[in-house]
Amino acid sequence: MQRYVVPLQCRRCGSERAHAVVYLGTIIARVTCSECGEVVAPRPDVLLERYLRDFELRLADKPGKMLRHARTRPVDFLFHYLPLGLIRKPGEILREWTVLVGASSPGPARTPGCAERRPAGVPGTAPRRS
Ligand SMILES: [Zn+2]
Repeated sequence: MQRYVVPLQCRRCGSERAHAVVYLGTIIARVTCSECGEVVAPRPDVLLERYLRDFELRLADKPGKMLRHARTRPVDFLFHYLPLGLIRKPGEILREWTVLVGASSPGPARTPGCAERRPAGVPGTAPRRS
């Protein structure tokens, strides 16, 4: 799960505001205006369908990615990529599934402990907490 803060036009505020954009893999799960709290998200069934399709593609791509990494940087692969990949990925997938479960239950979805990251080169303001 990735969380970015980017300036977007809010349909409720009517002007550009900082928005928290939550990705599950390459799928946008939720966009929240930091000013008014307006949430834009796909329907839970649509989100689940998109997520599962993306998840399949990520799994299918994995062996190729790992082989390329092992071939180009074998030492780095052995000591860093492989152990970290094995340890980190299950947790990441578990966090993504937590967001999916939250999206399909009533009330605002919660994402405890997610790291706020901003993509390089994208201007934005820090999110305000209400
Ligand atoms: Zn707003």
